[in-house]
Amino acid sequence: MRRFLLTSRKPLQQRALSLGLVCALGGTLHFGARGVAMAQFYPIGKPGVPWGPTERTEWLAKQSIKRSYHEEVLSKIEKLRQAGDFEVFQYGALSYDTEKYPLFALKTPGFGKTGKPVVLVTGGVHGYETSGVQGALRFLETEAKEYADEFDILVAPCVSPWGYETINRWNPNAVDPNRSFKKDSDSEEAAAIMKLVSGIESPVLLHMDLHETTDTDESEFRPARAARDGKETYVPDAVPDGFYTVGDTENPQTEFQAAIIASVRKVTHIAPPDAKGCIIGEPVAQEGVINYPIKSLGLCSGVTGAKFVSTTEVYPDSPKVTDAVCNEGQVAAVTGALEFVKQGLRAKVAKVQA
Ligand SMILES: [Zn+2]
Repeated sequence: MRRFLLTSRKPLQQRALSLGLVCALGGTLHFGARGVAMAQFYPIGKPGVPWGPTERTEWLAKQSIKRSYHEEVLSKIEKLRQAGDFEVFQYGALSYDTEKYPLFALKTPGFGKTGKPVVLVTGGVHGYETSGVQGALRFLETEAKEYADEFDILVAPCVSPWGYETINRWNPNAVDPNRSFKKDSDSEEAAAIMKLVSGIESPVLLHMDLHETTDTDESEFRPARAARDGKETYVPDAVPDGFYTVGDTENPQTEFQAAIIASVRKVTHIAPPDAKGCIIGEPVAQEGVINYPIKSLGLCSGVTGAKFVSTTEVYPDSPKVTDAVCNEGQVAAVTGALEFVKQGLRAKVAKVQA
């Protein structure tokens, strides 16, 4: 989040430096294994005590509207509706303010009934991750119709509009939607997508979930999570400079992830591993790719059970990128994935015909 930093990375480093616990070596921050006292990092709650309703209310009171979902997202969806290439429909509304936060998705004509392979693109599961939302919209504005002959495409560009407006990872209840794609979810943002997906009649072949990794993850959101969950200490990590993807530990699809990386590399740089061979604490499986157990974590990318799934992670705070490059990086990730799947389908047809 370049333009809307809640707090910059600098205070984190300064705070850590003042505690004598950090040195910069090759761009990686090294902290004591036990981390840093929680109270130094987050002002709400007591270290070691998980937040209750009081702390969550205190947190919510500190949040404010910083940009307009209506102006930056809904107006673009309306233009897409007028252009007529996609069917726009409302799949829900957030109860915090149903008038202000209607949830919209766009689909290609005849979606789910054409027999074409089904593709889902989700953006803004984390509302603060701007290029996830704007990249999904950009995909619809530029590339999506090129693929409509071969795929049925469904795009939900802004899953968490309150998070978009307040530049937040969480929803107003201090719940992370992207750990909440589970039965009886306590995130209505996640529940609305699960309901939408459950209505898709054909199996989903490809799902791209568009995200960012930002400096505010370290300066705000990870400390907030540690405080919320009642941790005694907070262990900082480095933010990787560049694009990477998160695949599924149970279904890594290495060639598919490699095709996404190759496509994005034409637009922006790929995140290198840190000194330990990791990106955000996870071992790098192949260049620019880490894997998570997406189902058990309740990630959005696990919502369809699709054969091909990827969570994209753009780094918008890099000095090497602009907002436009971040958005194009997201588009390149989606088109790289679509091209890979398309080639696989063609090869399959050729094999059957041979
Ligand atoms: Zn995210």
